[in-house]
Amino acid sequence: MGDPHPAPRGPGSTGVPGEVPGATGPQYPEAARPAKVLIVEDQPELQRALRINLRARQYEVLTARTGREALALAASQPPDAVILDLGLPDIDGTEVIVELRRWYRAPIIVLSGRTSPGDKIGALDVGADDYVTKPFAMAELLARLRAALRRDEGDVANDQPRQVVIGHWSVDLVAHLVTHVDAGAGEEAAEVESPQTPQTLRLTPTEWRILELLVQRPGQLVGSAQILSGVWGPGFQQRTNYLRFHMARLRRKLEDNPARPRHLLTEPGMGYRYQP
Ligand code: CA
Repeated sequence: MGDPHPAPRGPGSTGVPGEVPGATGPQYPEAARPAKVLIVEDQPELQRALRINLRARQYEVLTARTGREALALAASQPPDAVILDLGLPDIDGTEVIVELRRWYRAPIIVLSGRTSPGDKIGALDVGADDYVTKPFAMAELLARLRAALRRDEGDVANDQPRQVVIGHWSVDLVAHLVTHVDAGAGEEAAEVESPQTPQTLRLTPTEWRILELLVQRPGQLVGSAQILSGVWGPGFQQRTNYLRFHMARLRRKLEDNPARPRHLLTEPGMGYRYQP
């Protein structure tokens, strides 16, 4: 996946790479959005400094001053990472972590003036990924953020599936590889390899992101707006045509019978569901 923080691209500025020979009709943009970071900090100067520094590095930035504001924002526009002060005007930052961790799996980095080991352990125990004490060097915080995002990208969270089987394809969400189930990994497979049957399949970055969102919630309905904002970013929640296009392509690639999918299901008017 190369650079995790590519510069934003506007809708329509790029088309789908020509992997479907002779494809005609409208072109739909591939996802290429910067990582979204929620900054929760009640001190205005510090919030501003963080915002400026993150934006300068192409992150999309959301800011909240209070714990409740942070929880509401995270729910409506799920960020890729949270930078969280513990001393907030309403609820304690530790409580924000507890609430977030009920559903939120991406990195939370605590930024706090509390330096006692007990405070650090407390925050890490309830689900923070890292702890940076104030005063801090901006370069260090940015490095920790990059590391947390990288870990998260390769991780897909500990209790999430790392490999799923869809039709005749084994999908490795960590290695980003799709291999034919019959191909196996042994030497035998190499011998029976036939030029007619492709042994691997290429998915586009957009297809990976959609697939990840779905298979991380096996059996659950995932709303179209959630997938669209998660994959393309805010402002794309209504572009259900993008999603239909890419879902159809995913099914053509993965399902045995794309017309009657068994794993990548549509819930009309609502969203999609991955059925293991
Ligand atoms: Ca504070």
